[in-house]
Amino acid sequence: MIEREQIEMDVVFVGAGPANLAAALHLKNSIAEHDELVERGVRHGNKVGEIEIAIVEKGPYVGAHILSGAVMDPIAIRELMPDFLEQGCPVDTVVTDDAFWYLTKNRAINPPLVPPPLKNKGKYIISLSKMCEWLAGKCEEAGINIFPEFPASEVLYDDNERVIGIRTGDKGIDKEGKPKGNFELGVDLLAKVTVLGEGSRGSLAKQLVTRLGLNEGKDDQVYSLGVKELWEVPADTFPEGKVVHTLGFPSDTKTYGGGWIYGLKNNMISIGYVTGLDYLDPLIDPHAEFQKFKTHPKIAEVLRGGKMLRYGAKTINTGGYYTMPRLYADGVLLVGDCASFLNGQRIKGIHTAIKSGMLAAETIIDAFEHGDFTSRTLRHFEEKVDHSWIYDELYPVRNFHASFQSGRWSALINSGLQFLTGGMAWGFMPKEHHIPGHERMQHIDDRHGNTDRTRYAELKFDKEMIFDKITDVYHAGVAHNEDQPSHLHVLDTEICATRCAEEYGNPCQRFCPAAVYEMEFNETRKRPELKVNFSNCVHCKTCDIADPYQIINWVTPEGGGGPDYKGM
Ligand code: SF4
Repeated sequence: MIEREQIEMDVVFVGAGPANLAAALHLKNSIAEHDELVERGVRHGNKVGEIEIAIVEKGPYVGAHILSGAVMDPIAIRELMPDFLEQGCPVDTVVTDDAFWYLTKNRAINPPLVPPPLKNKGKYIISLSKMCEWLAGKCEEAGINIFPEFPASEVLYDDNERVIGIRTGDKGIDKEGKPKGNFELGVDLLAKVTVLGEGSRGSLAKQLVTRLGLNEGKDDQVYSLGVKELWEVPADTFPEGKVVHTLGFPSDTKTYGGGWIYGLKNNMISIGYVTGLDYLDPLIDPHAEFQKFKTHPKIAEVLRGGKMLRYGAKTINTGGYYTMPRLYADGVLLVGDCASFLNGQRIKGIHTAIKSGMLAAETIIDAFEHGDFTSRTLRHFEEKVDHSWIYDELYPVRNFHASFQSGRWSALINSGLQFLTGGMAWGFMPKEHHIPGHERMQHIDDRHGNTDRTRYAELKFDKEMIFDKITDVYHAGVAHNEDQPSHLHVLDTEICATRCAEEYGNPCQRFCPAAVYEMEFNETRKRPELKVNFSNCVHCKTCDIADPYQIINWVTPEGGGGPDYKGM
């Protein structure tokens, strides 16, 4: 029996994203405020006292694995820290101009009215990576322990299925699975409350939700993949503070997709494209969709003469309110993107993530006050969410993504109706609510009679405006120690070489935005077989989500490995 070190904390947060950083900070500050009010007799109840809080993060520093567009609605950060600007929150610029372009193949239709959910004037364009780094500094000043390079590998339970903490991954194992000279066993971090805020398709949240059946009675989750580049463009090409969202080209009308361009300071722009991972055609390649987006004359005009500096890709949960799992169980809470707090219609989740973290913190204070860390107290987290502005914002758009599964035109009609009726347009809703993407993908020979297998034949990777995946991955600063076991567990590679090749044409080669999966001809077996270039992985989780056989399991690699999204 291996003896692991056990470290006792009071609250452990898994993942240093906006939800957990806000939660930890709000918890620490609110306990001080609560105890002072109790001491002065202004508030009834018990004092909580000093508690030990830890945040574990798989990246080498906070922010390294954080990627977003991003335009932030400041409603939540203002609640967390009313003087966030004075305290140095690193916002890039204020949005001064909004536009919505509907793209046909060669034209951009620019309606005079921007759809209300996409109005962003007065909001902030930020680098979420920078913002998380700054929030982490605030947490450390408040006495919260942050452990970077500590990937959480599993959830720990007691005999009654109560969550009692997490185990961090072992370090120093070679690619054959044998310990190296620097081998270190992972530790068990025990906690009264564990909070999972791992972002989209969190690997521990996936284990937990399945084991405890937290998604029973909920719609299946659906995801989208955002692919982004940071560019420096010639002066006066795209104004600072301008925000453009697009619909149309290059997505077909059956595929959920849209683009963005955000004007940053110093002639920089954030440009990207989101593709719904519930697409039908197995030939779709979300990275190629983004590259094709840049060939549109209106988009190319912005980029011409500029230089691509950075690249990243990340999935988001787009299912919304109906796909939220139960947010609590004994000893555990789920916050942020891994609990589906993103508003798909506004393409925004930072503000809801922060607010979910704050409400989780308030629930945890109640738990400490009453000395009860079971569902009996933690269930109040869901009540707090349903009595907050999160509910007011997410409930009316609860059908948004489901309507896209019937095609773009049905979705636009539904979105309009939902907007006018506050989400009450039931009679017009398609019956098929949120079918998960891996179930929707069609066989390669069953693409509505479309026999063209060269979806991106016209795309020329000139490495000036249009980049192949390998070039883009280089700009994501990805690094993994290659002498470690692959963190991409393909549970049955025989399926890849046989059924998947025949039925879907191995879509992993296309949906992965980092060229991790390759079918390589095996001379001995006289057939193509799967090769996994795991060191390219940008941790977007697409493969774990989109694989039609669900045989890819993404687990955390050795701490510190992955992309470097500093400042992205
Ligand atoms: Fe994303 Fe999976 Fe590719 Fe990694 S291997 S970049 S998680 S799709």
